[in-house]
Amino acid sequence: MRHNVHTLVFLYSGHHGKDGFKVGMNEYVSMQHINKKIQECTHVKIVIAFMDCCQPERIRVKEEEQRLIQFNATASTDAALSLRNEGSPFTKLLVQAFTMKASGGKCALPHCECRIDGPFITIDSLSHYIEIHRQNGLLRGMEPEKSLININWQNECLAYNYAYKVAFRFDIVLPHPFTSKHTFEVLATTVKDFDALIQTILFPRFAGRRIFTVNLI
Ligand SMILES: [Zn+2]
Repeated sequence: MRHNVHTLVFLYSGHHGKDGFKVGMNEYVSMQHINKKIQECTHVKIVIAFMDCCQPERIRVKEEEQRLIQFNATASTDAALSLRNEGSPFTKLLVQAFTMKASGGKCALPHCECRIDGPFITIDSLSHYIEIHRQNGLLRGMEPEKSLININWQNECLAYNYAYKVAFRFDIVLPHPFTSKHTFEVLATTVKDFDALIQTILFPRFAGRRIFTVNLI
């Protein structure tokens, strides 16, 4: 890991049991191994962890030097829930909390008008967000927990809050003698790389529009 990295975000969503985190057919990574690796990263000052698994354990940071913010899907004695074909409701809720407004998406709960206000997502605002959806049944009975070490109001920000839709606007203008000009809006969350942006997002839309225009004539 690069030495100028001060914040480590750890997210695990999957199986966890007495052998540790299941990372392959018969492959496991123990919590002790994760703890050791994190403590060896002395340049990491804050660990933000999301444990979406059964019997989640608390990460052991280097207490004098590192801070910990850890959200668990469920209590350390309980099983987490994952629905076939739908994935985990806890991870989906987290993704929603951090990206829903930016991606122009909607809450997984019908008619829910949830939002996180302000320039930052804080421990409190994320906790509140999780809690209202727990109360409304989105977590199917799971009781999320959190652990904080060396955290106070000064360092409780988790991320910038993109409380607005993040999109790029493209004006496509053909060279002379053509006069065609079209404007397309592309959500930032749909852009994975530049080539794909041109080939699979912009070109099909532009080509589709041209065919539509020709048919009209
Ligand atoms: Zn909601």
